[in-house]
Amino acid sequence: PLPVLAVVGRPNVGKSTLVNRIIGRREAVVEDVPGVTRDRVAYPANWAGRDFTLVDTGGWEAKAEGLNLAVADQAELAIELADAVMFVVDGTVGATASDEQVVRLLRRSGRPVTLIANKVDGPRQEALATELWGLGLGEPHPVSALHGRGTGDALDAAVKTL
Ligand code: GDP
Ligand code: MG
Repeated sequence: PLPVLAVVGRPNVGKSTLVNRIIGRREAVVEDVPGVTRDRVAYPANWAGRDFTLVDTGGWEAKAEGLNLAVADQAELAIELADAVMFVVDGTVGATASDEQVVRLLRRSGRPVTLIANKVDGPRQEALATELWGLGLGEPHPVSALHGRGTGDALDAAVKTL
């Protein structure tokens, strides 16, 4: 089986936008991953000559109550099923309490993590993204999933962890 790279993070940080950029299309044929909800979708992906399964997490936006818990639950399952994780934070907001919950799960999991500071659409957003070093997950990779800025370098780093 191919290695699994999961894209994890709280709602609205741009996970699906990043996934679409990586797979190079707006909508991919989705395949079910055994044991996970239909909200989590896996896409065949290739980067730098490496084939892997890219897992987008989401759909928990629908859970109105207990948002933090829902985020943590979904992230925990995705992390468990993954060989490596891209942890996406909104680089224009910085780390929130919800992000910190996921950080704890990531630490406990022992999975390799590539930290992505998304929505860094230009140099103006880079200063806040740099503060994400403070999460203790290594280098934050500033990217704009929307425009493609920095996504190549971030993917290079993530694929090396597989
Ligand atoms: P998800 O809930 O984490 O999957 O986030 P989505 O991919 O659905 O994106 C949430 C919103 O953020 C959408 O309106 C996107 O267009 C926007 N977004 C995603 N990536 C970027 C980015 O790099 N820059 C900006 N400015 N907006 C982005
Ligand atoms: Mg999404």
